Amino acid sequence: MRGKDPTIAIIVAAGRGVRAGSGGPKQYRPLSGETVLARSARAFLDHPAVDAVRVIIHADDHDLYAEAMGALRRHRKLLPPATGGKERQDSVRLGLQSLEPEHPSIVLIHDAARPFIDAGTISRVIDAAQRTGGAIAALPVFDTLKKSDGAHEPLISNTIARQDLWRAQTPQGFRFEAILAAHRAAAGDALTDDAAVAERAGLKVSLVPGSPDNMKITQAEDFGMAEILLGRKAMAHEFRSGHGFDVHQFEDGNAVILCGVEVPHGKKLKGHSDADAGMHALTDAILGAVGAGDIGDHFPPSDMKWRGAPSRIFLEKARDLVAEKGGAIAHCDVTLICEAPKIGPHRAAMRAALAEILRISIDRVSVKATTTEQLGFAGRREGIAALATATVKLPACDQ
Ligand code: MG
Repeated sequence: MRGKDPTIAIIVAAGRGVRAGSGGPKQYRPLSGETVLARSARAFLDHPAVDAVRVIIHADDHDLYAEAMGALRRHRKLLPPATGGKERQDSVRLGLQSLEPEHPSIVLIHDAARPFIDAGTISRVIDAAQRTGGAIAALPVFDTLKKSDGAHEPLISNTIARQDLWRAQTPQGFRFEAILAAHRAAAGDALTDDAAVAERAGLKVSLVPGSPDNMKITQAEDFGMAEILLGRKAMAHEFRSGHGFDVHQFEDGNAVILCGVEVPHGKKLKGHSDADAGMHALTDAILGAVGAGDIGDHFPPSDMKWRGAPSRIFLEKARDLVAEKGGAIAHCDVTLICEAPKIGPHRAAMRAALAEILRISIDRVSVKATTTEQLGFAGRREGIAALATATVKLPACDQ
């Protein structure tokens, strides 16, 4: 199912959450209709660069886990849960060990109690971990830091220079073999995050920008703050649209491929790839909506490796770029312009093919066809043109 050397995320959810008050472990509590754990897991399951996700749970929590994950349990990327240990560090070590048969290249370690992790932060951690071997999401410290004397009514003992200080978040990403060895070597030491385990083993760990929203739910009061944040996030998205246009010329053949469907015809379309003008126009529309250039930027026609390529790889790339930005494709609409072949009988299959590739429901995909009343190149049956519009929902910029 998974490719070679996958990137796998483990979600650490074995804690008892004693600081968050009564009501059971905090990761199993709902936050606006979805549990803290499900929100955390979903961010990784939805991320195109994450190949699989495993949740580490307490031995007593199998029923809570099943209930908390709900429909996500059927997600194709979700591995069965693994059982954690006494301390967080034990749970991570056991979780890492459980992944050995999967041979991950990069492993991401994330606390279930950070349900607002965003796709951009996950991408930054993966990219940096691939480059340097280890990376964590973190934020520079802007508050002035005071050290207390530890008394019951504390006094300041000194002020700590905040320059170069960062607050560690999760996810923390590492090369798998190195972090597993580091965790085995550190078993029994009390270290508070996985970067500390890596540092102790002498591994390089880079700091990449996390997000101020990526809060950790620790105390009962944090649920109130989390609800406020969710309310803000629900409001804070924007819709963008893009359009695309493509033309391919006919040549000798016996079928054309349009919107992923082979349509018998006395000719075929000429092109570098499979010449699916409909899918090319749609790919450009989606890329346009997220400001990510065009097909040619991502798949240069000069590169021989795309010769004869199925056009779905272009559309999959556009889909993944939207997901990496934390976005979702809300709707797309393709118009095919030709005198022949007849598109009508194939429209349903085309909509289904595009919806499957984009992983959206079929009612979000429209395919139409028209002629040019025998005018122009399409009217002279020299080729086929395609127009497409895509609408994408994206998290709003704070700027
Ligand atoms: Mg084209």
